[in-house]
Amino acid sequence: MREDASPLVGRMREFGETIFAEMSALAVRTGAINLGQGFPDTDGPPEIAEAAIAAIRAGHNQYPPGIGIPTLRTAIAAHQQRFYGIEVDPDTEVLVTAGATEGLAAAILALCEIGDEVVCFEPYYDAYAADVALAGATRRVVTLRPPTWAYDPAELEAAIGPRTRLLLLNSPHNPTGKVFGPDELAHIARLAVEHDLLVVTDEVYEHLVFDGRHVPLASLPGLWDRTLTISSAGKTFSFTGWKIGWVVGPAPLVAAVRTVKQFLTYVNGAPFQHAIAEGLGLPDERYAALADDLRAKRDLLCAGLDAAGFAVFRPAGTYFVNVDVRPLGTADGHRFCLELPDRCGVVAVPDVVFYDHPEEGRHLVRFTFCKRREVLEEAVRRLAALRG
Ligand code: PMP
Ligand code: GLN
Repeated sequence: MREDASPLVGRMREFGETIFAEMSALAVRTGAINLGQGFPDTDGPPEIAEAAIAAIRAGHNQYPPGIGIPTLRTAIAAHQQRFYGIEVDPDTEVLVTAGATEGLAAAILALCEIGDEVVCFEPYYDAYAADVALAGATRRVVTLRPPTWAYDPAELEAAIGPRTRLLLLNSPHNPTGKVFGPDELAHIARLAVEHDLLVVTDEVYEHLVFDGRHVPLASLPGLWDRTLTISSAGKTFSFTGWKIGWVVGPAPLVAAVRTVKQFLTYVNGAPFQHAIAEGLGLPDERYAALADDLRAKRDLLCAGLDAAGFAVFRPAGTYFVNVDVRPLGTADGHRFCLELPDRCGVVAVPDVVFYDHPEEGRHLVRFTFCKRREVLEEAVRRLAALRG
């Protein structure tokens, strides 16, 4: 058998199979309730689904423009204005991507050179480490610690050095559910300006906020010119399989990302772009209803996990809640997750895979609550059995 893979593949293999696919496969194999990978078990707003069907019927099935169809770019610009008061030129400052995943990869490839350093927080969404490695850059991580997931400001300052090119911020944050507060954002912004850094923010959970308020880092003084803001329709509208994302920022940075995107996917999702353009125009109440529904589910799952004996870190945003498993007599969250389907018919994700410093996250486990109420109730009943 020939082994022709490049050294890059070797580096990517070090990341293994993504934990989300691994845990979903475990759920399918065991028939357990899947509170691991974050995807809703119901569809999003029916009028958005109908708009996609109508777009297919109307013949929007060939390559859309490279930067995305004008109506979607205009809708994204209007969204930034409506929710954050950010003025964006839809023709030069918006790029449609194949989900936030492509936006992140293309942005990091577009901005980083071999040997550059990227500062991000751990635990981190798994794609970040792979994207930084794809670019030949190196990551420097700063730890968020429960129960509040605060970081030590001195640690962040120490992580920034002469080779630092980019700061990568995810808020609302996966996996912790943290929404970065005003003081933290101001601190991060000050450092970015002082050290003349570029910034990429991942805001895919921007509308899934229960406590506090989401503020895009790009809206802080001195940040617009150096920041690419990335988001996606997947979480906001519960259509994770459609893969319509976007990058917003100053024209020269967006143009750089577009140069890379051209040769990754060229274009993506023509009919879905039409549907999401409509979705983004939904009234504020519809956005609020999504957060209200998830808030109630957060409360349900947090109460259930608490009753089952875990130490629960109640999230301010996203659709994830994390627990410390040590009160249940083990410190090994990974093993706990592998055994959980057999013990009680539930799947969760071990946080340790999101850390460079495994000792920080070995005992932590993430559950998602983006499932139907009856599914969460059944999961809570099953988890109660762990108490014995
Ligand atoms: N960033 C974070 C933090 C996420 O949780 C996800 C969703 N898995 C993504 C990016 C990717 O988003 P998309 O599905 O739009 O590619
Ligand atoms: N964002 C989802 C999660 O964190 C899943 C994304 C994926 O499967 N790559 O669970």
